[in-house]
Amino acid sequence: MVINEKQLEKLGAFEISSEMLKLAKKNQKSNVFLNAGRGNPNWINTLARLAFCRIMEFGVRESRLTIDIGDMAGYVQTNGIYNRLLKFLSPDDRREDKFIVDSLTYLDKELDLPLDEVVAEMTNGIIGNNYPVPNRILKYSEIILNKYLESTLYDGEKLADSTDLFATEGGTAAIVYAFHSLSENHLLKPGDKVAINTPIFTPYLEIPELNDYELMELDLGSHEKDDWEIRASELEKLADPSVKAFFVVNPSNPGSKAFDRKALTAVKHAIEKNPNLMIITDDVYGTFVSDFKTIYSVAPHNTMLVYSFSKLYGATGWRLGLIGLNQENIFDKKISELDETDKKELATRYEHVVVDPAKMKFIDRITADSRSVGLYHTSGLSTPQQIMEDLFALTHLVYASGSVDSYINESRLLVNRRYEDLYKSIGAKEDVSRTNAKYYSLIDIYKIAEEKYGSDFEKYLEDNFEQVDFLLKLAEKNGVVLMDGVGFGSKAGELRVSEANLPTKKYKVIGQQVLDLLQEYHESFEKKNK
Ligand SMILES: *Cc1c(COP(=O)(O)O)cnc(C)c1O
Repeated sequence: MVINEKQLEKLGAFEISSEMLKLAKKNQKSNVFLNAGRGNPNWINTLARLAFCRIMEFGVRESRLTIDIGDMAGYVQTNGIYNRLLKFLSPDDRREDKFIVDSLTYLDKELDLPLDEVVAEMTNGIIGNNYPVPNRILKYSEIILNKYLESTLYDGEKLADSTDLFATEGGTAAIVYAFHSLSENHLLKPGDKVAINTPIFTPYLEIPELNDYELMELDLGSHEKDDWEIRASELEKLADPSVKAFFVVNPSNPGSKAFDRKALTAVKHAIEKNPNLMIITDDVYGTFVSDFKTIYSVAPHNTMLVYSFSKLYGATGWRLGLIGLNQENIFDKKISELDETDKKELATRYEHVVVDPAKMKFIDRITADSRSVGLYHTSGLSTPQQIMEDLFALTHLVYASGSVDSYINESRLLVNRRYEDLYKSIGAKEDVSRTNAKYYSLIDIYKIAEEKYGSDFEKYLEDNFEQVDFLLKLAEKNGVVLMDGVGFGSKAGELRVSEANLPTKKYKVIGQQVLDLLQEYHESFEKKNK
């Protein structure tokens, strides 16, 4: 063995997983190795990608109208560009062309946007020969993406017009930028108490503890016996004014459970008692739950929204994320109430990039901070990425007549089928509630052991083996990689299975391999007790 179990347990869940992968690839049973650790989806959205290519092709032709020397072309002209695009497209022959036409009709009829301007922004954006201006987000991208967030996450609340967006390099950058700017603007100081809903995506456990931040974590736990639903009594802890911020992943990862209406009300009540509470909600799995409602839509003034296109549209390599903040928000208010020393320091920080630093909004500070302030003028997500976000969003806005988006529906059905297969083959009880996103699940090895072979055997497993032993053997012998739940703040024996990354037929096999390995442990237990 390359690494011992004690060393292994010190590593983060994602690092353990890559060690497991090495073992699984040369597993003793010569099984085809199955990596169910990865959250990366194994599907993509095709329509938006094809549309992107068509606009690129159109943009290159347009560019030749101004300069045309060999492989060199010029700038795109705005005047009349919408009509030239219509002439270029063949909506009767190509579905992606029809989608572009339908999108422009939607933007005209529903949002009343000037089409030459919109087409110019998209074309120039995809060609990518200008720095992103405005740097926080392109003008029409902000309008389109606000509509998308409103339609997918707000459950009927109308917040598109009052939300400012910043397009980021995936949810990853959104998280990094949020921690950084909260700290730079003295909204979070070393020793401050921040709540998180555990188990949780590992960075939210690891970042606050870093030397850069030194925050104190308050875990708001959820448990398997409640099907990972967070209890209102846990959320009541947010009412304590010493809790400065609440970092929440909703639906959670790895529990895959969304806040229900009762939990949302509990958050609202807590804010009444702790009105300065800053909430950062990471809703990247929101669309996997029907009737999802984000915390942002019930507490818009206290909440920063983080979203990513990575999971739903199979776009992890593109790095497409968003930060949303209401135009009226507690972050700006708290900045305006900082003491004079802090205000002076921040004025010095931002005075080279804005005329009146005191009035600079927090979301613009995040944008400036993302490029160490000094490079604020060249900040912003690359323009082709921003247009890719628009196009993914438009597949929803244009075709989700009423509330049914067939692509989103299929993505739910896909993870749902895999979840069912896994649970049926293990023989574990399924959580069929609407709030279960089923993108991941946590299976409890000790619980399965007890149910199948009794409590003496379960105790034997707990007493005789290190916490990662089962995970390790599963990789080494059976070639199956799952993720250790402990790294996510879950308890020993709970393993995360991703329903996103493997061919659907493999989920039965995974269940079977788990049971096979458990049976081997049981055989050695029996031998010992003879
Ligand atoms: C996958 C994931 C992200 C990262 O999203 P990217 O857009 O790929 O950077 C953020 N938050 C959670 C909870 C995730 O699971």
